[in-house]
Amino acid sequence: MSVGEFELIYRYFSALGHGPGVDLSVGDDCALLRLEPGERLAVSVDTVVEGVHFPEDMFPEDLGFRAVAVAASDLAAMGARPLAMTVALTLPDSDQLWLHSFSQGVAQAVSEFSLPLVGGDTTRGPLAICVQVMGALPLDSALLRSGASPGDALCVSGTLGDGAAALAVLQGDFTPPEGFEEALLECYLRPRARLALGRELLGVASACIDISDGLLADAGHIAAASGVGLRIQPELLPLSPALAGHAERERVLRWALSGGDDYELCFTLPPGSALPAGCTRIGEVVAGEGVDAGIDLEGSGGFEHF
Ligand code: ADP
Ligand code: MG
Repeated sequence: MSVGEFELIYRYFSALGHGPGVDLSVGDDCALLRLEPGERLAVSVDTVVEGVHFPEDMFPEDLGFRAVAVAASDLAAMGARPLAMTVALTLPDSDQLWLHSFSQGVAQAVSEFSLPLVGGDTTRGPLAICVQVMGALPLDSALLRSGASPGDALCVSGTLGDGAAALAVLQGDFTPPEGFEEALLECYLRPRARLALGRELLGVASACIDISDGLLADAGHIAAASGVGLRIQPELLPLSPALAGHAERERVLRWALSGGDDYELCFTLPPGSALPAGCTRIGEVVAGEGVDAGIDLEGSGGFEHF
């Protein structure tokens, strides 16, 4: 069953728009958001396209959650307080079963990441989801890519490589050890944007980025923006139980170093700063340039579209 454009917006997307900073939500030409005095707006947008960013048989509910999580991860990487989001949807048709399931995933993400859905756009075309997120930051601080100095510790949150390993599972290319498949798939289908950690690192970390394209590629952005080199010790990379005991060490290292889709934070800490819970020191900042993990992985430059 299909449904008209305005009925669609009203039925599936108009009830998720309430939050502390929201003065006006879905239904007018713009939403109106309120910042606290002494704050500025952090804005970012991410598009996911079927067949490029997700497998075509992904459940709409997972897709809805994931599209928001991926965008929210950029707010985490800046240390921003989540404020609200807008979603531009391009749909091949207005299938109600699909829309119901998709909007359930979006609703779960609205609540998980404290990002009310305050507006958007709905058009017909090949399936694509564009999520714009907005957050608040104090006027005088933000977690940039550019503040790392030689002597800082290089750290990551969570475990690495799970997103890439889960994608390999979905593609029939990897069988995880008995009992670990569900947790691994969850890493890919339901990434957890590290918003609380980002806020904890604000004013503490010297540089920060979220790992979306693979550790080497994303750490490379910190190195370039900060004008420093990064030295990674591969034996320190945090691995989940699903990957830690895996026999093919080279494959696991490739996932952890160059697989994308982890949505963990990679950050640098000045000497003397305490390592936050759930994080691991994986190396150090040195004078120089580039990222050196001491091993040569072919094709480890991270994902680029062009
Ligand atoms: P306009 O013509 O002014 O762009 P639209 O007809 O596109 O307005 O949208 C009407 C209202 O519904 C607006 O408030 C818009 O933000 C909201 N909206 C449209 N699509 C979505 C969506 N997919 N999710 C949430 N809000 C939406
Ligand atoms: Mg519009």
